[in-house]
Amino acid sequence: MNMDIFKLTTRVFRALFKTVYPPRCTLCSSKGIDDHDLCLECFLALPWNREYCQQCALPLPDGSNDNAICGECLNRPPGFSQSLSLFRYEGEVVSLIHQLKFNEKLSISRLLGQMLADCIHINNVEIPDAIVPVPLSKKRLRQRGFNQSIEIARPVARRWDISLDTRSVKRTRDTQSQTGLDRKQRRKNIRGAFEIVRPLGVQHVAIIDDVVTTTSTVTELARVLKKAGVKRVDVWSIARAG
Ligand SMILES: [Zn+2]
Ligand SMILES: [Zn+2]
Repeated sequence: MNMDIFKLTTRVFRALFKTVYPPRCTLCSSKGIDDHDLCLECFLALPWNREYCQQCALPLPDGSNDNAICGECLNRPPGFSQSLSLFRYEGEVVSLIHQLKFNEKLSISRLLGQMLADCIHINNVEIPDAIVPVPLSKKRLRQRGFNQSIEIARPVARRWDISLDTRSVKRTRDTQSQTGLDRKQRRKNIRGAFEIVRPLGVQHVAIIDDVVTTTSTVTELARVLKKAGVKRVDVWSIARAG
């Protein structure tokens, strides 16, 4: 039998680390649940996206059908098949994402990624061949020092043993803020922002993004992926504005 010493050592070190630094809630400093830096009370108080459009994860009113599709998706089906978004973009989730992006709190990306991985299990989501985190432009990456979508994707890829593809797609340019633009302008704004730089060689991809505000970014990325031969694209995100 081939013992994977690296994996074993990592596990031992992780267990040791947990004993010395037990998980603490990132919001209130109480004892964390499991290996998550979040306590049960804060966990339950988060704005979970309970009822949502199956295709674009748009929050829907309570009591909506489990397989509901929003009017927008019915009118113009987007280029992706299914979406999973943990939270509505409000309350503590806004501050968590903000801390992650602008205060470089990478422990938060681990927490959010762990929760996304848990949700995939609970929601019986179909496991894709690869995860493609929404790429940042070189300039933005230099400013921020890391890509938050890649950091969120790591625990998900690890837990479900999915290949994490951070190299096949590049962001060629930044886009101006999408706020205040109508759908047509948004699409024009984002068109051509992504480029395939090497073949992906897979059939089913899940895009990971931190927040999906309008779907124009993930729609454009899905379009480019499909043009490159990917048959099915899903979108997984931490929060959905709507
Ligand atoms: Zn707490
Ligand atoms: Zn929808």
